[in-house]
Amino acid sequence: MKKREKLAIVRQYYPNALTTIDGINRVIDFVEEELDLEPAKIMLADSICSDDVNSIQYPVRATEFLGPFKMGGLDGFPFTGLTGMSAFASHVPDEGAVFVYYGPHIGISKKGEIGEIHRVGQRKNSSCCGAAKGALTKLIHNLIEPGNITEIDYQMNMLEQILLKEKERVITAQIPMMEATEVIYEAIDNRINELIELTSYHCKYIILMGTIHINSDTEMGSFTAVKRFDLIDLATNERKNLVDNYFN
Ligand SMILES: [Zn+2]
Repeated sequence: MKKREKLAIVRQYYPNALTTIDGINRVIDFVEEELDLEPAKIMLADSICSDDVNSIQYPVRATEFLGPFKMGGLDGFPFTGLTGMSAFASHVPDEGAVFVYYGPHIGISKKGEIGEIHRVGQRKNSSCCGAAKGALTKLIHNLIEPGNITEIDYQMNMLEQILLKEKERVITAQIPMMEATEVIYEAIDNRINELIELTSYHCKYIILMGTIHINSDTEMGSFTAVKRFDLIDLATNERKNLVDNYFN
């Protein structure tokens, strides 16, 4: 299957989607050409869903960076919190940068079905993100209790509460699964920015890449629809929004 054909399927829903491989290549070019740094001076932290498909489809060139530090739990929410953010902040080369790739994920199958993918060796499609889909099903059936967060299913309960706050918006949307993913993106983006505010860094830059991460069937691979690409210069505290320059 040609890349052009794969992109056409994914771009029905996410018009600026790229393959994750092309997305990472662009970041590597940016780091080398604009920041004059080598990838080995960059500490990568990702906040993406712990789903095994994200390990299977992890882009090979990401290994040119240091890391990854894994911040994400179910659907990519940065469950390692402030301690996680400050831990890897203290591991970055002094002359280098932090690169945080974050966002929820959603499946789009080869046939263009949203919220599901065909996984290796399985007869049927399965949900992706399964946690988001589970929370959405509970939302639709009024099964989420306000404030209910348990020890045994803490991460799932947190996702449920995030969706519950935007119930009307999600259930009245044309594609509720896609809207639920947007809502979770916004919660992750807010939290990442809060964590950045509260953490001290001793390197040169912070690069933030907020995306809807898209998984597909095995032969399709993964894609990234970038929503935020910010560069923070830690010497001046200046923040540049570069998403249109590199990803739109
Ligand atoms: Zn997931």
